[in-house]
Amino acid sequence: MEIVRCTNGVGVWEVVSDNGSSQVFDLRSDAENFLKIMTKTYKARAQVFLVQDMGTNESYLWSLPQILEEINKDRSSEWTDYDESDYVEGWCEWVEGEYFSCEEIKKKYHEHDCWDNAQPYEFEEHGRRYHGWECGICGKLLQTG
Ligand SMILES: [Zn+2]
Repeated sequence: MEIVRCTNGVGVWEVVSDNGSSQVFDLRSDAENFLKIMTKTYKARAQVFLVQDMGTNESYLWSLPQILEEINKDRSSEWTDYDESDYVEGWCEWVEGEYFSCEEIKKKYHEHDCWDNAQPYEFEEHGRRYHGWECGICGKLLQTG
């Protein structure tokens, strides 16, 4: 992926991906931000995980979409799908050790620094507003507001 000067007059900067599609921006900083996010997403998607089947002991190489498919498989209608941002928690809570095992994801889950992955949260209940910080990987509550 790269940033190029726009040639068709719609915007000023254009982010062109490897598959030929493109996104147009007026500001170069916006184009750079977009490129950063897309690169991160592509990297996550290109990752492969060595997964062991607990039943047969066979090993497979799975991509992130396959990991997500297993986590979100056969769930109730109230289930909220896990995605690229929280698959570590989803895998360790719902799949790991029961059907499949993945050392790499387990390691991420147990050896991360919660504060490095802190994410703000906010919700309302019984007319009160709650906010603070929680870990984006294991969901641990770090600080309440
Ligand atoms: Zn954590």
